[in-house]
Amino acid sequence: MTDTRSARVRKLRAQLVDDAWAGIVLTHLPNLRYLTGFSGTAAIGFLTADRFVLITDFRYAEQAPLEVGEVAEVRIERRHVWDRLVALINASVDPADRIAVEADWMTLGDRSRLSAVEATITPATGIVELLRASKDIGEVEAIRAAATLAQEAFDALLPQIRPGVPERSLAGRLEAELRDRGSEWHPFPTIIASGPRSALPHAGTSERPVGNGEFLLIDFGAQVRGYCADLTRTVLIGGSATEKQRSVYDAVREAQHTAIAGIRAGMPGREADALARTVLETAGYGEAFGHALGHGLGLEVHEGPRLSPTSDDPLPEGAVVTIEPGVYLPGWGGVRLEEDIWLAPEGPIALSQGAADLIVLH
Ligand code: ZN
Ligand code: ZN
Repeated sequence: MTDTRSARVRKLRAQLVDDAWAGIVLTHLPNLRYLTGFSGTAAIGFLTADRFVLITDFRYAEQAPLEVGEVAEVRIERRHVWDRLVALINASVDPADRIAVEADWMTLGDRSRLSAVEATITPATGIVELLRASKDIGEVEAIRAAATLAQEAFDALLPQIRPGVPERSLAGRLEAELRDRGSEWHPFPTIIASGPRSALPHAGTSERPVGNGEFLLIDFGAQVRGYCADLTRTVLIGGSATEKQRSVYDAVREAQHTAIAGIRAGMPGREADALARTVLETAGYGEAFGHALGHGLGLEVHEGPRLSPTSDDPLPEGAVVTIEPGVYLPGWGGVRLEEDIWLAPEGPIALSQGAADLIVLH
């Protein structure tokens, strides 16, 4: 563990040299967790060529040194963590130096707390995020474990789905199954959308009782050692699928299958998106697929890279991404299927295993 984190810190230091920064202020907690192992909810990091200091408060006086170990010096500040940071920066770097801050995460309020810093503050974007995009084997195994327990929780939910049960009740049962199997937390609020509500791509979960013969869209996640899995399943509650339900489901399934088979590291995000989008356009559902094909997964449930029609960025080797095509027909319903895929050096490897055919619950 220590070696992995030290290697990450070394890479970040090399970046500081490349960009002629004397140091970087780290305020995004997933980035701090990636570099130090600290899993608490409040800390600031400051990294220079020869020091890495993590400043946190009294609540983490015991936890932070245990988690961080030798990777960084932990400082517990009982009063003003930002004042402590400013003093540290001014003591560590020259007024003529430039230091970086995480422009995507630092609030204007936090920026104003750095007004007494003597060095020049420059905004930086995506520095640690770029390192995080390529997963090492330990990270991949954590995501695989999260995806496996999520699938098992879903399998345990299936016999509990009956017409008349409210969506919110099914969400609660699924979340209990996830937690029972070891999910540390829900990376996002579970989406359970039945019937016409399945046409809302990011529906909240409602009190609506699920109905016979309807699609039920279930989007849920799990978290293991901080790493997230993100799955979507669409099942049919009772009856037998109508021709239209079958047609929509099969088109989404084929789009997903084509994308999983064809995606490769090095491909621009928009090319990966097009693998699925072309299938849905050919089936006549292009307009009904209004979101991107997928996103990166890791310590955050939505992180880089983006598999979107507007992304020219190449997909990094080692990235873990979701492949989640969907078709949404307002007033009628929708289907989305989502799997988690590792872009391994030898090609795509599925970390989750969805059913190939439409599941009809009786
Ligand atoms: Zn999802
Ligand atoms: Zn997703």
